[in-house]
Amino acid sequence: MTYAINTKGYYGEFGGAFIPEMLYPNVEYLRNNYLDIINEEGFQKEFRSLLKDYVGRPSPLYFAKRLSAQYKTNIFLKREDLNHTGAHKINNTIGQILLAQRIGKKRIIAETGAGQHGVATATVCALMGIECIVYMGEIDIKRQAPNVARMRMLGAKVVPAKSGSKTLKDATNEAIRDWINHPEETHYIIGSVVGPHPYPDMVAIFQSVISEEMQWQLKEQIGSPNPDMIIACVGGGSNAAGAYFHYLDNTDVRLVAVEAAGLGVDTGESAATSVLGTKGIIHGSRTLLMQTPDGQIVEPYSISAGLDYPGIGPMHAHLIDSGRAEAVSITDKEALDAAFHLTRIEGIIPALETAHAFAALDKIKFSEKDNIVINLSGRGDKDLETYIKYLDQQ
Ligand SMILES: *Cc1c(COP(=O)(O)O)cnc(C)c1O
Repeated sequence: MTYAINTKGYYGEFGGAFIPEMLYPNVEYLRNNYLDIINEEGFQKEFRSLLKDYVGRPSPLYFAKRLSAQYKTNIFLKREDLNHTGAHKINNTIGQILLAQRIGKKRIIAETGAGQHGVATATVCALMGIECIVYMGEIDIKRQAPNVARMRMLGAKVVPAKSGSKTLKDATNEAIRDWINHPEETHYIIGSVVGPHPYPDMVAIFQSVISEEMQWQLKEQIGSPNPDMIIACVGGGSNAAGAYFHYLDNTDVRLVAVEAAGLGVDTGESAATSVLGTKGIIHGSRTLLMQTPDGQIVEPYSISAGLDYPGIGPMHAHLIDSGRAEAVSITDKEALDAAFHLTRIEGIIPALETAHAFAALDKIKFSEKDNIVINLSGRGDKDLETYIKYLDQQ
């Protein structure tokens, strides 16, 4: 029994590649070649070197002393917020730009919610001198203005998605449409562990450097590579996949997946897919998603643009459906309070997405002896306007 992907591209009954015919050659080529390309010695050398000297890895594993004392347990923070561009997203975009170069693609497209993946993609395109087009929901363009400015400064073209809820799902639809129209020259850098196989596995492999480092960092600090619990927020699930990766089949390690409840799971304004979702197909894979009984996507809502997505990656659908991972949902308000709490007790301003993971500490049981790792997926600079507005309302 393994929780890893099988050779057909499935996690249990979730995953697969459900794609329009026009994309079949691209996706099939990736499927047949991605593992060979990634595992090739020259690729690994360049990938590892960029992670070290450009991204600034390894990211520290920080023992949060005051937070631990308050919760009467041992809490370690995996500091992905300290990466270049401020989140875990860059681990994946570095990997995928190297892959795009090796398969001869000259044009990069991406979707983005909070703008972190757009910035990370625009960054690696600038680094390699490759054309970059980023699709972003019109609403997200407004609520994440600093990241839009960064993308433009980096030379990317930011294209607004104006359909549906004008957020991440709609940006993803636009990116897929672009890819269908320009399949020959374009590589689509998907920003999370979603989409058709092999994307979920490819992105998880690039992000798995997070748990690879956690293993030796924990060994150094507590004498064992294994924590008792790993907590991560889940939008599509890439930072969680990276933090869980090397522990998936080690059932002594509890995996906690934290979703955005928005205004509350029962309010109709939510993005808590594990509670509200049912089995279906979205953006090329079979997974859990929020849909009406006749299969129309339900518009998701979260204050956090990076969690505002109606599905989750197939890995997480399987982990939650099988009981391997515990799902927790956190409201906007709980996340905002947790962001201020972490900032005031440890001097670290987290991204709004990440703040959801911290709020989960109030919802789950643990013991005094436990070693808990929270994946601190990103920094909060992009969310300062939201935070200050909240502060002024208090
Ligand atoms: C994008 C983002 C997320 C959500 O995406 P995942 O693929 O679920 O990790 C979480 N935290 C931060 C800081 C992000 O930028």
